[in-house]
Amino acid sequence: MVLKGINASDGVGLGCAVCVREESLDYSDVPYSGKEAEKARLQNAIDEFNQRTAAMADRIREQTGPKEAEILTGQITMLADPFMLSQMQEAIDGGSCAEGAADAVCTMYADMFAGVDDELMRQRATDVRDIRSRLLSILMGVTGIDLSALPAGTILVAHDLTPSMTVGLNRENVAGIITETGGRTSHSAILARALQLPAVLSIAKALELIKDGDGLIVDGGAGVVVLSPDARTRSEYLAKQKDYQEKTAALEVYRDKSTADADGKYYHLYANIGSAAEAETAAQSGAEGIGLFRTEFLFMDRTSLPDETVQYEAYYAVSKTMAGKEVIIRTLDVGGDKAIDYLGLEKEENPFLGHRAIRYCLDRPELYKVQLRALLRAGAEEQNIKIMLPLVTCVEEVRAARELLDQCKKELAEAGVPYDKDIALGAMIETPAAALIADLLAQECDFFSIGTNDLTQYTMAVDRGNAKVAKLYSPFQPAVLRSIRSVISAGKRAGIPVGMCGEAAADPGLIPLLMCWGLDEFSVSSASVLATRAQIHRWHEKDFRRITEEALGMSTASGVEGYLKASVNQS
Ligand code: PEP
Ligand code: MG
Repeated sequence: MVLKGINASDGVGLGCAVCVREESLDYSDVPYSGKEAEKARLQNAIDEFNQRTAAMADRIREQTGPKEAEILTGQITMLADPFMLSQMQEAIDGGSCAEGAADAVCTMYADMFAGVDDELMRQRATDVRDIRSRLLSILMGVTGIDLSALPAGTILVAHDLTPSMTVGLNRENVAGIITETGGRTSHSAILARALQLPAVLSIAKALELIKDGDGLIVDGGAGVVVLSPDARTRSEYLAKQKDYQEKTAALEVYRDKSTADADGKYYHLYANIGSAAEAETAAQSGAEGIGLFRTEFLFMDRTSLPDETVQYEAYYAVSKTMAGKEVIIRTLDVGGDKAIDYLGLEKEENPFLGHRAIRYCLDRPELYKVQLRALLRAGAEEQNIKIMLPLVTCVEEVRAARELLDQCKKELAEAGVPYDKDIALGAMIETPAAALIADLLAQECDFFSIGTNDLTQYTMAVDRGNAKVAKLYSPFQPAVLRSIRSVISAGKRAGIPVGMCGEAAADPGLIPLLMCWGLDEFSVSSASVLATRAQIHRWHEKDFRRITEEALGMSTASGVEGYLKASVNQS
């Protein structure tokens, strides 16, 4: 059976399904076995919880550091609170099974902590919720899949790919990824590309159609999944896989080349990363800098805020890895499709239009200043860090962020802490509002980077992760192209560099247009660095000018895309 989804990460993978299902923690059918038996079940579960949590803490202490491990040991301490235990026992005396008792008491504490107007207390709410679900899983015998011990040739099938899943993943044994949700620029797609694994997203009901052990082929470039392929189909795809591998190997000649077009004009070619560890991959990929470090990944998959030291260490590590090269670090881009439980963001009707990114950060200056201080300090030695603001819509936001940055500089200077006093501050241009006032923003910013993932979403009024409207979500839409062109031109008039860190920067069809309009910097996933350099190398100015003029004369996205793809294949 052939299933069509969204082509999220190139490559062809063949293997067998391992399905990651969210297990139900519904205990309504669990019988009550009497006071003593339920209390014994509860105590056994708590003992098991403590053992597993201590083992996890040890692992995290080795892999990440003592601070992260403390979060887990803190949970053991919380659960050791005699008052909490006696409340659970009382619930059992009142006729609850162990599951009901653990659920009721943990939920009561979580609600209580969540209602307190104090950051630390709210973080405790997240901890108690975590304790609740892990205790219930133990009581109900629900075991998750160990992603660090997957068999070779695994095709991972999940509702969504989350950063926590990727943390422990033994990548070598994974041949491909399939999810039920997400679009080309969703975070699942970005993670899959960072892992350099073929991925097809938005396969409706994948977890119903696919069973553990089913034979699968994932063609990430075409957005196609083949379920239970026959021998002939397998050999066809093995040939396609070989072809892909050969093409990738042929790009190696570009690794040590500079990024210049056929007339010798240079461009900057940077990489997008989501963690300090990925900076190593970026450096090896031939990237000449980092054009986007998505710092929200540092805030996800934790139960509390990363403090200034944790943040400083991550930014400093990237700065050092890329010494002598630029590192553009985006401040916390939370909200929209990026939920972080412990921040206590309220549920919103329209999260993409809501309290997110720079809006959220400016309303939480104490939280934001921790990040700004960490960035200023991390840039002190190499002086290669630039700070980038997400989702800017008006000049006031840049001014307010600059004001906080100045406060941080003053505080650091007073405390005698070294920092980069000339750190650059730039804006992402990813909303129609920012694009329309790019000339005004250019007076306030040291640089721009165009975020086409969101710029396309907001310009076209189309949710970037919604498969039903995916056909409208295209950077080839004339509206999006006009917007990009005018932003680059506003930046050039003001004399500030303009980059692009949205996925469109790696699109072979768009590259000649971006070159024609004078884009200074292309920032792409590490996996796309060499292919992007190869594309830039092939164009002469006279050709990209002609093609751009022709494309701009067209009135539909499909017309533009078809024309550009044909031109790229011909030249
Ligand atoms: C963008 O919107 O283009 C972008 C690069 O940011 P993100 O994908 O993280 O929203
Ligand atoms: Mg964005």
